[in-house]
Amino acid sequence: MLPALTLGLQMGLTTALPMPAAVVALEATPQFELDAYTTQIEARGGWWLELDDRLLLAAPATAFAELVAGRRVLDELGWIKPDELALQARGCTIHPSAPLPPIARAGRYTLVRAPATLLPYRLPEVSEWRPVVPNRSIAQDWRARGRLDVAKRAANPQVQQRVDEVDRDRWFGVLEHLATYDRSSRHADIANARDWLLAKFGSLGLQTSTHAFTMSGTAVPQVNVIGTLPGSSLPNEWIVVGAHYDSIQSNASSATAAPGAEDNASGCAAVVEMAEVFTRFPPQRSMLFVCFSGEEQGLIGSSAWAQSLQSAGTLGNIKLALIMDMIGYSTDGQLDVLLETSSALSSVFPPFQSAVADYATELVPHTSTNPFGSDHMPFINRSVPSLLVIEYDYDAYPGYHRTNDVPGTISHALDMGGGVLKMNAAVLTEAAGYSSSALFGNGFED
Ligand SMILES: [Zn+2]
Repeated sequence: MLPALTLGLQMGLTTALPMPAAVVALEATPQFELDAYTTQIEARGGWWLELDDRLLLAAPATAFAELVAGRRVLDELGWIKPDELALQARGCTIHPSAPLPPIARAGRYTLVRAPATLLPYRLPEVSEWRPVVPNRSIAQDWRARGRLDVAKRAANPQVQQRVDEVDRDRWFGVLEHLATYDRSSRHADIANARDWLLAKFGSLGLQTSTHAFTMSGTAVPQVNVIGTLPGSSLPNEWIVVGAHYDSIQSNASSATAAPGAEDNASGCAAVVEMAEVFTRFPPQRSMLFVCFSGEEQGLIGSSAWAQSLQSAGTLGNIKLALIMDMIGYSTDGQLDVLLETSSALSSVFPPFQSAVADYATELVPHTSTNPFGSDHMPFINRSVPSLLVIEYDYDAYPGYHRTNDVPGTISHALDMGGGVLKMNAAVLTEAAGYSSSALFGNGFED
């Protein structure tokens, strides 16, 4: 990443004048070729944005034609400056965002032409808008950039063993069960889901605890559920595996049930499945399996928990917080998954690159360093290494925040969720640490 001073100077130069701009297709352009291209654009006085499978480039008129020559131009944008653009978050479609002309989708944002009334941006925990900083990757397609080929290596038997322990049918069974509860944070039935999760964690041999917090506007108790697997040799180093278990529906009366099968019984069941795997292969670091509530009202449960750890002085124990939210759906069977963190924390990405290349080759991973709107944010905002895993097709999910978010609506669930579970099991094995003796037996099998 560029130092702040350099970046400021660059912005000063490149935002001064409008330039001709276009969006071109990147297709299978390896990373080193893309780096050479963007270096060339900057050298000619232009600027660029990587937008997943495409590149926006702007350059002085004298250089523009030469820079786009031989490229497949998808969109001519006329003369623009970066501050005439903005990134607009894509949420569910029940309350659609203001219709602005979309330029491209990248991560969970759409690049749009920014209206003058946009500022100030809402920061930091729920960022619906982001300014555009030139010469940045907004989102990246790892497979098309050749990153998975680079990361490919021989499988590690320790990791393979845990990956093989993943049972996608068991995961889907938990998902189906969680979807039988009305888990709206404002409805009493959420307590039954909470109790079921506590009992499940207990039955797996985890140390169980709860973290209560307050949320305005409801008398229903608000509780995060925590199952702890103490580390064998590094118990004060924590790996958090988290997902929200509350749900919401916004398309019917508030008394109607919110089944939330995909959002987010899918992620919560994945937390349970990771606990199933790692209780069979005890790790060196402690693993904290956490199901949050109050997410849909503004990340209230995860924020309260992160704040409580900060107050207790234990937040720094967290070496990685892996958050899952909507992991089981694919529109078309191409298993696109989005990994999201901040640019400052992007060193969390490489282990996922190896995990997909070696253990979950069916996934098509994309990355974004513009995070927003899920339980990774309270950690990211406190500089704790954290990452969100979410299906890339999430905003096309027909049940998103609706009463039809039921198991049958989640197309390609076993393939999509199964791939994510294998990837995460691989990453968590390395993150939590293992001892070689675990290869030859464990105390939990019967
Ligand atoms: Zn969610």
